[in-house]
Amino acid sequence: MSELTEASVREEARAWLEANWDPNLRLVAWRNMLIDSGWGMPGWPKDWYGRDLPVGLVPVVGVELKRIGAVGVPHLGARMLAAATILGHGTDMHKEKFLRRILTGEDTWCQLFSEPGSGSDLAGATTRAELKGDKWVINGQKVWTTSAHLADYGLLLARTDWDVVKHKGLSYFIIDMRQPGVEVQPLRQMNDHASFHQVFFTDAKIAPEFLVSELGNGWAVATTTLMSERRNADSLRDYSQGSDRPGRIYEEEKAEMATAMEPYTWYPQRAGRVDLIVERAKATGRIADPAVRQEIAKLLILSKTAEWMARRARTAQESGKPQGPEGSLGKLVASHVARAAANVHTLITGADAMLTGADSPMDGVIAEILVSTPAISIAGGTDEIQRNIISERVLQMPKETRVDTDRPFRDVRRNTIS
Ligand SMILES: Cc1cc2nc3c(=O)[nH]c(=O)nc-3n(C[C@H](O)[C@H](O)[C@H](O)COP(=O)(O)OP(=O)(O)OC[C@H]3O[C@@H](n4cnc5c(N)ncnc54)[C@H](O)[C@@H]3O)c2cc1C
Repeated sequence: MSELTEASVREEARAWLEANWDPNLRLVAWRNMLIDSGWGMPGWPKDWYGRDLPVGLVPVVGVELKRIGAVGVPHLGARMLAAATILGHGTDMHKEKFLRRILTGEDTWCQLFSEPGSGSDLAGATTRAELKGDKWVINGQKVWTTSAHLADYGLLLARTDWDVVKHKGLSYFIIDMRQPGVEVQPLRQMNDHASFHQVFFTDAKIAPEFLVSELGNGWAVATTTLMSERRNADSLRDYSQGSDRPGRIYEEEKAEMATAMEPYTWYPQRAGRVDLIVERAKATGRIADPAVRQEIAKLLILSKTAEWMARRARTAQESGKPQGPEGSLGKLVASHVARAAANVHTLITGADAMLTGADSPMDGVIAEILVSTPAISIAGGTDEIQRNIISERVLQMPKETRVDTDRPFRDVRRNTIS
């Protein structure tokens, strides 16, 4: 087999795209072709819609897609967490049933982990799954569930055994969200979006084959989902908003953005919009202020080094090393960058940064940055939790004192009735 190089991958991807890209195709039909070719997710295994490309070569394909104006597979949201989890722990049936429709964008997913009494303490989840007859029966409540109102399927962490220590009594399921017994209620955020929800389960049902991995192994599976989430919180995310080119396929992609991607429209703002800083400083004349320039330089250095760190972690993971705590480092540094960027935006724009609506700076984008950046320090595990992980697993510092891991979960004192 000839050795893969940047040039050989570029040549092969370009040739395939030039022979096959057709903006007159329907979105799903095109994505199916892309998936079959392996160029949609070239870093995935060959057996499952990929090309086993080393991570360093994957961006080459993205550049070629962009060059020709071709639409790619959708990347944003819990669908990619679902894909990573299913690839890592799912059965062939799971992969067969779900992966393709994730990549075509036909199915939308949500992550049903956090509960009112267990966010950071995720292993304290009390939503219960009980096997009754030939079905798992689910009762309980989740909260903060992004895109739950649109989701076809959910990644559900539920308690199946109360008589073992808490991490061992959890199991991981794929739940059909479109069934009686699943009730979704939106929650309004301070940036005026309502992208997450509380979800109530009342005798919702799951067939046994939708248990992921072994019974009681839910914590290990959830860790894969979380690592993937933390890795994706880094600065390398592509928050593509779709193309402005004319044509049916672009219209369909835009419609997808307007619905399935709507809960994420503020995600670029929550990352701090470092990309706007220099442009804003020039437009407002603040670039001439040495104190502002100093802060901009500090931010750009922080942001660049964060990006390199994220790239290094990705390269290590995708060249075969298991995902480790470096996802936590990337996530923590992304929080720092977002906070620093919000500060610099404020320095540049001054009190007007608080304005929204017509005539506000950048049509309210600056204000949205200020009220959205706190989310990045919370979602996917708070900054404090990342610090705990880094101190215990990277720096090998003594573990946090625990009073809830030495007894069956049933006997752990907690503030929820279950
Ligand atoms: C934008 C956004 C989207 C989200 N989407 C989803 C989703 O789709 N699905 C989902 O399941 N969840 C989602 N979440 C929830 C998120 O994972 C939780 O909010 C997060 O894990 C924190 O849990 P909590 O809110 O219950 O805070 P708590 O756990 O109650 O924490 C409160 C405070 O105490 C601190 N703290 C807690 N424990 C410790 C400790 N051991 N050491 C030091 N400090 C500690 C925390 O850092 C925090 O400051 C989302 C959150 C956000 C902001």
